[in-house]
Amino acid sequence: MIELPPLPFSRDALSPHISPETIDFHYGKHHKAYVTNLNSLIQGSEMENMDLERIIRSSSGKIFNNAAQVWNHTFYWKCLTPASKRMPEGKLGDRIAASFGSFEEFQKQFAACAVGTFGSGWAWLVQKPSGKMDIRSTGNAEPAFLNGDTPLLTCDVWEHAYYIDYRNDRAAYVKAFWNVANWEFAGTNLAQPAGTATGSQ
Ligand code: MN
Repeated sequence: MIELPPLPFSRDALSPHISPETIDFHYGKHHKAYVTNLNSLIQGSEMENMDLERIIRSSSGKIFNNAAQVWNHTFYWKCLTPASKRMPEGKLGDRIAASFGSFEEFQKQFAACAVGTFGSGWAWLVQKPSGKMDIRSTGNAEPAFLNGDTPLLTCDVWEHAYYIDYRNDRAAYVKAFWNVANWEFAGTNLAQPAGTATGSQ
């Protein structure tokens, strides 16, 4: 049984960038429906007691699509905050500046990836297994961790993420995304290099 995790903020917290009505549909209907569909698909099967990541890695078709969308949306809500610092600080800020030249250049490339994703999908900032930063697009329900990358930040570019607020203007939604991007959360996803002590940030 997979649960719908609570939203990490109130339904009106991201307004005017993301409206309460979008949250009601995107979280209250779409995300919730993925959870409901997944639970009815796995009921009575060996997947019933698996954790979400294991279901994603062991399934295909409808089960994979619903499970992956549950994971993606849970991650996406954590990537948003009403208290956005607007840019990454500390280690992540340094890594992004070093990898892309500057934060502004990163934003340009990430926005191009998000706007240029054909159809439904996700734009991601990831850390490759080598430790390198990268920007990637995945189609439909595919989560960025499946190929071994560590997702740091994502922007949902399915139409249901922006159609209420921005109609067909995906670029305007991606522009607004920067006002609510949760860089603190993204920073916590940075993998520790092997062999280093944890707990000292
Ligand atoms: Mn969505």
